Amino acid sequence: MLEFSIRLRTMKIHSIQGMHDILPGSVELWQKIEVATRSLFRLYGYAEVRTPILEEQELFSRSIGQETDIVQKEMYTLAGHRGKTITLRPEGTASVVRAYIEHRLDREQLLSKLYYIGPMFRRERPQKGRYRQFHQLGAEVLGSDNPAIEAEVIEMLTRLLEELGVEDVRLLLNSVGCPECRPGYVQKLREALEDNASSLCSECLRRMETNTLRVLDCKVPACQPIIDPLPSIQDHLCQTCTEHFAHFIEYLDLAGITYEVAPRLVRGLDYYIRTTFEIISDRLGPTQNALLGGGRYDGLSELLNGPPTQGFGFALGIERLVLLLSRQEDLEGTYAPPEPELFLAYPDKATLGEALLLARRLRQDGIFVYVDFGERSLKAQMRLANRLRALFVCVVGEEEVDSGQFSLKRMSDGVQQKLPRDAIAEHVRQAV
Ligand code: AMP
Repeated sequence: MLEFSIRLRTMKIHSIQGMHDILPGSVELWQKIEVATRSLFRLYGYAEVRTPILEEQELFSRSIGQETDIVQKEMYTLAGHRGKTITLRPEGTASVVRAYIEHRLDREQLLSKLYYIGPMFRRERPQKGRYRQFHQLGAEVLGSDNPAIEAEVIEMLTRLLEELGVEDVRLLLNSVGCPECRPGYVQKLREALEDNASSLCSECLRRMETNTLRVLDCKVPACQPIIDPLPSIQDHLCQTCTEHFAHFIEYLDLAGITYEVAPRLVRGLDYYIRTTFEIISDRLGPTQNALLGGGRYDGLSELLNGPPTQGFGFALGIERLVLLLSRQEDLEGTYAPPEPELFLAYPDKATLGEALLLARRLRQDGIFVYVDFGERSLKAQMRLANRLRALFVCVVGEEEVDSGQFSLKRMSDGVQQKLPRDAIAEHVRQAV
C-alpha cells in the first residue's frame, strides 16, 4: 500500500488527453489572431460578449438538438446545485443567445452584433485538428433576416483570413431549408436511403432514423456511391428559401467573393435554417478540413423561451487556424524570449535594491528592463545579457548610485555613454 502511494506520488502528471498547453513561441500567433479579430470586428460593429464556460445542460440539448453527436456523446456534464445538470459549453452560439434573452438585449430595438473568443469542450476522439478542449472565435448577428447581413459576415471573415495570410481555402454554401420545405425533403431522403439501407455504414443507419439530413455528412468511402445520387436539397427548397439563397449569392457576387454551392453541407447542429456555410482547407486533412462553419438560426431564441429573433453567425476553430498559419520553425518550438531593451547588472547583493528601484522607474517610462535574480557574478550577468540579446547594459554599482551617473553600453558595438539617471529612458527609447 505504502509502495503504491509512493509510486503514485512519483508518477508524472500530464495534461488531459485532447487538452493542450499553449506555450510561449506559439502563443504569439494566438495573440496575433485575437488582435486582428478584435480590430476587424470592431469595424463591422461587433461588441465582445463573455459568457460562462458552464451552462445548464438543457441549454445545449434544447438548442443544438437531442439527436446530434454533440449532445448524444460529446458533452462534459456534471452535477450542479439543486439537482440541475451543468455542462462545459461545447459551442458558443447557444450561450450568446441565452445571454441575449436573459439581459433583454432585444429591447434596444437595434441589430445586435456580438462576438466571442474562448475555449469549448467536446469529448471527441482526439486527432490532428480535433481536440477535447479547443478554442473558437465566433460572431452572431441577432435581429435580421436580411441575406445581405449573411454576405457581410462572410466578407468580414474572408477579410480576416486574408489579413492573417491564410491561403487555399474554399467557401462552401448551402441552404438547409426551413420548417416549410425541409420535412418534405427529409422524407424523400429517407425513402431513397431505405432502398439502399443494407449497404450503409452503421452511423448512417442510426442517422437515417434520428437525424436524416446528417447522412449527407458521412465521409465513409463505401457510403459515397449511395449518398452522391441522393436528391439535392437545393431542388426542394420552398420559394422563400430559394429567393433568400439567391439574394445571399447576389450579395456575395457583389462583394467579389468566390464560393461553391455544396448541397451536401448540412452541419451538425439542429438549429440551422436556410443558409449554412463552411470555409474548408485541404491542408487540414481529409476529415477535419473545416476551418469554420456557420449559418442562420431564426427560431433558436424562441426555442429558449426568448422573443422571436432572427440570428446568423459562425464559429472558427482557432487551433485549425493556427495549424494553417504555423510555419515550420513555430512547430519546432524554436522559441526566443523577448529581447530586453536594457539589462541592469549589479555587482553584489548590496546594490540589488538600487537596481530594482531604477528598474521600477524605467519601467514606468515604458522601458523593457531585465534584472537577473540568479545571484550571478557581474561577468556572468554580462554573458546573460549577451545571450538575451539585450540592447543596452547598465551597471548599477555603488559608485554609479553615489554619483548619479550611469554608464550605458550599447551591445551591438560596445559604445559606452555616461548619463544621469533621468536621461536613461530617453536614450534607450531613441535606440529602440
Ligand atoms: P462547429 O461548432 O461544430 O460548427 O465547429 C466550428 C469550427 O470549430 C470547426 O470548423 C472547427 O474549426 C472547430 N472545431 C469544432 N470541433 C472541434 C474540435 N473538437 N477540435 C478542434 N476544433 C474544433
